[in-house]
Amino acid sequence: MYKIAVAGTGYVGLVAGVCFAEKGHQVTCVDIDRNKVNVMKSGISPIYEEGLEELMQKNYAEGRLDYTIDYQSAYKDADAIFIGVGTPEQPDGSANLSYIATVARQIAESVEKDCLVVVKSTVPVGTNDKVEQFINDFLVNDVRVEVASNPEFLAQGSAVHDTLYAERVIIGTESKWAEELLMNIYEPFHLPIVSVNRRSAEMIKYASNDFLALKISYMNDIANLCELVGADIQDVARGMSFDERIGRKFLNAGIGYGGSCFPKDTKALEYIAKQNGYELKTVTAAINVNNEQKTLLYKKASKRLITFNGLKVAVLGLTFKPGTDDLREAASLENVPLLLEQGADIYAFDPVGAENFAKVYPEGKNGKGSITYVSSPEDALKNANVCFIFTEWGEVKAVTPETYKKLMRTSLVFDGRNIYKVDEMGEAGVEYHSVGRKVAI
Ligand code: NAD
Repeated sequence: MYKIAVAGTGYVGLVAGVCFAEKGHQVTCVDIDRNKVNVMKSGISPIYEEGLEELMQKNYAEGRLDYTIDYQSAYKDADAIFIGVGTPEQPDGSANLSYIATVARQIAESVEKDCLVVVKSTVPVGTNDKVEQFINDFLVNDVRVEVASNPEFLAQGSAVHDTLYAERVIIGTESKWAEELLMNIYEPFHLPIVSVNRRSAEMIKYASNDFLALKISYMNDIANLCELVGADIQDVARGMSFDERIGRKFLNAGIGYGGSCFPKDTKALEYIAKQNGYELKTVTAAINVNNEQKTLLYKKASKRLITFNGLKVAVLGLTFKPGTDDLREAASLENVPLLLEQGADIYAFDPVGAENFAKVYPEGKNGKGSITYVSSPEDALKNANVCFIFTEWGEVKAVTPETYKKLMRTSLVFDGRNIYKVDEMGEAGVEYHSVGRKVAI
């Protein structure tokens, strides 16, 4: 078993740290946010992920897991230091590597024995070479530090499961020593390991994410065409899904991808290509389709209604997908301001994302409109003139077509996640607009 430190306790760092502890390693999770560290020490997860809090409490109680802001004590005698800090998008599309650089500097100042630094964050190809150089330039003690790449593939909403039962672990190393150490750390997980060089590992992450983004945008593009030619995107997707070369997953049309990964990783790869004098046309197309798709519901509703001014608008779902409290790049963040600008009175329901959303749009008057957070879909729908579905939470899917008809003043629904069968909504008397399918009137 190894002594492991993890820098950053976000979705990636915290879940990795907790899962390493669960597999028997001695783990210290480091963050710069003192409040977060205190919250974690009290057994509460700062992020919403199924099963995470239980594992945090169990491994903390059993003494294999701790949290600290004192990076020096965590890094000085670690066998491996995993970096899971953010690499957010900059205005030009490139990845901001300043958090990685800060951690690298802190590691260089702290390590007192040979150690492997493992970058889990998504970073442009070649970054790990630079991180290794940077750490060695600033090393205080006479020790050996090597850097490895170990990109993360977890999906928010199923992060713990995705880590414990990952389809593959990618390790990118430049020496036998680093490769063996990482293999040993992952040994108790009994997962397939793909061992490549550092640059290939970095590229595997972007190539995988961007392929999935492309798949989503492709289906959304086809969905928009389906509407124009009278085809049904769900039937089309079902027909496609039997082809093993296409696969069954990521064929759902909707209002585009969000979250902290696909939007920034598509732009980052586009930027990397540009820097190398190459135009990555397919990825650029995926980005453009997604940008258009995010406000599709608003555009459809604007064509249907004269104004949103004074209308009671039910919004079901705020997060970028179910199972997470993350709002980064969520479609709701694009559509809600447009509705508020038009003077809409919004009644929003989200089982876990409302608190974060209220930090951006506080309850009450917001510009020309207003926003009220409610605790059930039914409360949002009561007397509403129009309803938007942005996230397919279980609570939202449980609302029956008849409920829209019964509770809303005018049962007009714009569904960005194709939750309902068109005919069922039509039969219940709901005017139902979705993505890539006919309208029920
Ligand atoms: P996050 O923003 O949720 O968490 C980052 C954490 O790092 C924060 O808690 C922050 O306080 C902390 N931090 C910043 N500087 C620090 C320092 N010097 N020392 C210690 N902690 C520090 O980020 P995330 O969503 O977990 O993503 C992290 C990386 O993993 C990104 O590169 C992302 O692209 C990649 N990734 C994310 C996901 C995902 O689903 N979120 C999946 C795969 C890969």
